Amino acid sequence: MTALHLKCQTLFDGTGLETRQQQTLVVENGLLSYVGPTATAPQPQPGDTQVDAGDNFVMPGLVDVHTHLAFGNAQSEEDIDLWTSDEFRALRGMFFAQHVLAAGVTSMVCPGDSGQLSIAVRNAITAGLFEGPRIAASSRVITNRQSLNDWFPSRVGAPEYFTAQLVTSRSDALAEIRKQAKDGVDLIKIAMDGTHRRPNGDIIAAFTADETREMVEEAHRLGCKVATHAYGREAVMYAARAGVDLVFHAFYMDDACIEALLDAGSILAPTMTFPQNTVDFCQPHDPAISTGYAGYCARTLEVGSAVLKRAKAAGVPFACGSDSGFAVTPYGEWHARELELLVTRLGFTPAEALYAATAVGARCMPRGETLGSLEAGKPADFLLLDGSPLHDIRILQDRSRLKAVYKAGQPVRMDRSPYNPKQVSDFNSLKWTDLYTRDRVAQLGKWAL
Ligand SMILES: [Zn+2]
Repeated sequence: MTALHLKCQTLFDGTGLETRQQQTLVVENGLLSYVGPTATAPQPQPGDTQVDAGDNFVMPGLVDVHTHLAFGNAQSEEDIDLWTSDEFRALRGMFFAQHVLAAGVTSMVCPGDSGQLSIAVRNAITAGLFEGPRIAASSRVITNRQSLNDWFPSRVGAPEYFTAQLVTSRSDALAEIRKQAKDGVDLIKIAMDGTHRRPNGDIIAAFTADETREMVEEAHRLGCKVATHAYGREAVMYAARAGVDLVFHAFYMDDACIEALLDAGSILAPTMTFPQNTVDFCQPHDPAISTGYAGYCARTLEVGSAVLKRAKAAGVPFACGSDSGFAVTPYGEWHARELELLVTRLGFTPAEALYAATAVGARCMPRGETLGSLEAGKPADFLLLDGSPLHDIRILQDRSRLKAVYKAGQPVRMDRSPYNPKQVSDFNSLKWTDLYTRDRVAQLGKWAL
């Protein structure tokens, strides 16, 4: 059995906020057998591999707790649910999982997928068929009429190949949770609210407090974690009181919700990258501009940042999620942007952001206590960076500065095969984004009598 000895000048091991100097990692069979001062490290034996990380900053692999492997860089809800077969989605998901890993994300939570996609990708990677990140798999999002994911008209519903499972009774909800647990999910995703509001503007929770508690209890009884989409006060409150493990967004919660999250020990992953990218990147011809969606994202970030700052100050643990899988958050591109937003929007120190994206995120993974930090006995998942993210957190988004990604002690392939995006998603039948009346066309100078 040969070992890998990695000498590091600067190590952020993820056990706290400190960095240590002159450290050595020893890896045997994919696991760390020693992490500590180089001076007291075991001597390399004949046949061992020795690597000097030089000036590179060494840290645990990132954990992205919000990546949708089924979505395929979707431009629309139709792209997510209509245009592709389960088989194509699975192949595409496997391909893009490797892009995620090459971006330094060694563990990812997939909250909401179609069929058994993330289960299959996880199992194929675990079996050694393909290289890929560690995956916490889910299945279809448990959805009710007022939930985000029931986004098509009621008469369409949610056919089996959609990413949402519409449940309209308690027994349907419990039956779906039991089915998903049987199929091998690591977590259940519940869409606790969506776009439905009361006349006073309150976002309506899609499930009652009792229904939420019943679903979460059953998921926990079956050994699954629970993640929820929850923007509004009511949804966050019901999720926290039910003891949900991971709450996404929470932009419109209040201080009572913060107390409830603290009592429950829930982890919060605001996933600001998706709305921030929408605000920053959309072009005038994008429907997100003409429909006002980008403006809504901007307001949401403003309102949300204030309450999320208070949640941070109160001690709610934060993890990093990117909502990758949309056209505005393509796989492998923006996973580390959330760390920057924790720093710029919520006042995290860079070290706190690193901790959120490693140690805290790992707690959302199956056997998460074995991941997220570099300690003897844990898998050797780590990154080598040319430069310190403690001086500039944006370094993590610079592909040229990410020098190596190791999963289980093995360097992963960093170069990615090119692909044709038009054959991967964007199958929409939309042909025109303007209305060509005679006046309009005359205005455009393309027609006159
Ligand atoms: Zn999402």
